[in-house]
Amino acid sequence: MSSFNFDVITLIPRAFELINNLGVITRALENKQINLNLYDLREYGEGSYKQVDDKPYGGGSGMVLKPGPIYKAHDSINKLPKRKTLLMTPQGKVLRQGDLLKWSELEQLIIICGQYEGFDERVRKLADEEISLGDYVLSGGEIPAITIINGLTRLLPGTLGDPKSLDYESHNSNLLEYPQYTRPKIFRNMEVPDILLSGNHEKIRLWREEKMLERTKNRRIDLILDDELK
Ligand code: SAH
Repeated sequence: MSSFNFDVITLIPRAFELINNLGVITRALENKQINLNLYDLREYGEGSYKQVDDKPYGGGSGMVLKPGPIYKAHDSINKLPKRKTLLMTPQGKVLRQGDLLKWSELEQLIIICGQYEGFDERVRKLADEEISLGDYVLSGGEIPAITIINGLTRLLPGTLGDPKSLDYESHNSNLLEYPQYTRPKIFRNMEVPDILLSGNHEKIRLWREEKMLERTKNRRIDLILDDELK
């Protein structure tokens, strides 16, 4: 079985230690379903101080990542034929489940994480896609990168215990998942809907479909409208 390769350029490789404690994702790493290679940007820094950032031309606050070290790190990565380079930036396209599904067909994702006030504009040339986690600003691209690694890995064949659990889950279609219950039947006066105990699979299927629609209409009508616009 071939594995999926993640190559990440980052100033904070230690942030990725989290991957060693993430259940399904950690198992995928141990089983070599995924490979994670970290490229410490500092090692590609310039001069005796291994400089990776500098003041912005034209003035302004904060420091900006220099293009040189990022290009050098990117050049050093062993490239596979089916790959994409993603740049983490709040100015990118907001990540959706469909992106993860599409990328899961590749062999390799190269992910560039920014820090400080971001990166020199010329770094954008390296990216096939610029991706944002959402409309807010984080201090670095590491958490977005871990998010992508996590979300993509659970889509790879053999990583989840039951691949069917992907079928109806939220964002796999344009609908959110139906309500789920497990034992006990009554918990603090809250009861499991009778229909789920009926054993009538067809009725349960219909009930779930109805709930998916109702939920999505109430919480995320934009998902349905979005789909109609496509
Ligand atoms: N000044 C920049 C933001 C810098 S935040 C701007 O206005 O665009 C520092 C780094 O954190 C970014 O370079 C990016 O890699 C990462 N980052 C911050 N918020 C993010 C988000 N919502 N999605 C993806 N990456 C983000």
